Amino acid sequence: MQDVLKIGIAGLGTVGASVVRLIAKRDNRLAEAAGRPIRVTAVTARSRRKDRGIELGSARWIDDPVQLATDPEIDVFVELMGGAGDPAKAAVEAALASGKAVVTANKALLAAHGTALARKAEAKGLPLNFEAAVAGGIPVIKTLRESLLGNTIERVYGILNGTCNYILTRMAEEGIAFEDCLADAQRLGYAEADPTFDVDGYDTAHKLSLLTSLAFGTLVDTKGMSIEGIRSIKPVDLKMADELGYRVKLLGVAARTADGVEQRVHPTFVPREAAIAQVNGVLNAVAIDADAVNLTLVGPGAGGNATASAVIADIADIARGHRTAPFIRPVAMLTKAGRAPLAHHEGGYYIRLEVVDRPGTAARIASRMAQNNISLESIVQRRSGPVRGGTDPAAAAAPAPVVLITYATTEAAVRRALKAMEADGVLIGRPQVIRIERS
Ligand code: NAP
Repeated sequence: MQDVLKIGIAGLGTVGASVVRLIAKRDNRLAEAAGRPIRVTAVTARSRRKDRGIELGSARWIDDPVQLATDPEIDVFVELMGGAGDPAKAAVEAALASGKAVVTANKALLAAHGTALARKAEAKGLPLNFEAAVAGGIPVIKTLRESLLGNTIERVYGILNGTCNYILTRMAEEGIAFEDCLADAQRLGYAEADPTFDVDGYDTAHKLSLLTSLAFGTLVDTKGMSIEGIRSIKPVDLKMADELGYRVKLLGVAARTADGVEQRVHPTFVPREAAIAQVNGVLNAVAIDADAVNLTLVGPGAGGNATASAVIADIADIARGHRTAPFIRPVAMLTKAGRAPLAHHEGGYYIRLEVVDRPGTAARIASRMAQNNISLESIVQRRSGPVRGGTDPAAAAAPAPVVLITYATTEAAVRRALKAMEADGVLIGRPQVIRIERS
């Protein structure tokens, strides 16, 4: 058996502590599988005194993460602190500069600096592994980097944020409002005190940018991405989705289009029978459509052990001497992701309108859709109270939800039709527009 592979871990929180625990637990079996023993030889975190429930044995404590990253005694630097800036960025850069292989779970860092870090790793011929950065315990990076190399990928999409999926699942099952579900998720530890990053779609966007680069050979880029979160989703949308044969999921979608690679994050109607529609609660899923294979991977997207499982697989790859470029191709071969404008996006749409309840409204809506060449698959009208009408202005303004499901059309056509309806004075409040993703 070869020499011990010595690792330094920066960050001993949820993931870092689980990595230490799992390496100790697997011990000889991990050494047999990886071809050499793996030892944690140095660690750091913010507080040295915190009880983390882990046995650090003879591992040295080094206060400064950058110093740990360049410690002559370590072969691999494992970054599990998080955050797009320093010390994570400085430490990963320092590790690569001093010839250490790097493993990280840090999607925020990679979304912001992934290409630059890959360039540094490549210049030194070093691995930069990040299986845990996307969908936690689901081995999707390895799947894209290795298992699907014989394919041309057309689309990769997924449920990449467990917090959002938990909230949408509970809203659908129990008919409760977003705010109440969010409060529960925070109480149960599924959502942060500041939930913005998760519920407004940014966490999904970071992960999607990495999947896009791997799937389409593009530079990591979140700038051209359209990002919408789940705050606007109402229980009525989930109820209507159910009645019409759909589920609502926050998806990150990257697809090859005539205009380039389209990257978008938004709540999505998915057909109820699609594999991804069955993925509930905090689970994650990634679906890949390619010319030879279509598949959906499902599993835990977060949690100490699930994420540590991915981190350890990355370390074991390094122990075996297995090396792949971070984004498959050399950085010089990565192309700029085309900015496929969302206005050109083609697909079906769910549109929920609150409309004034007066004669002629339905005809007006229908004619505005027809003028924009939008064909309707279904129209559902619900009355919120007794049928009103006549000349009473208050009654005429009472909202009545109308739900439209369109056949494939463009985003621009939908926006034009809605603008015209607004000018006609038939709408009350903002229309709810949710894209439908074919499975
Ligand atoms: P966490 O529980 O907050 O742990 C962060 C660790 O980093 C803590 O040990 C903290 O020290 C240490 N740390 C933070 N700032 C530091 C600094 N300036 N100097 C030294 N140490 C510092 O975070 P986590 O959930 O384990 O996440 C770690 C990484 O994994 C993040 O990039 C995250 O996005 C990624 N990830 C997490 C999950 C998950 O389920 N948690 C899933 C996938 C990916 P103290 O303990 O002393 O405060």
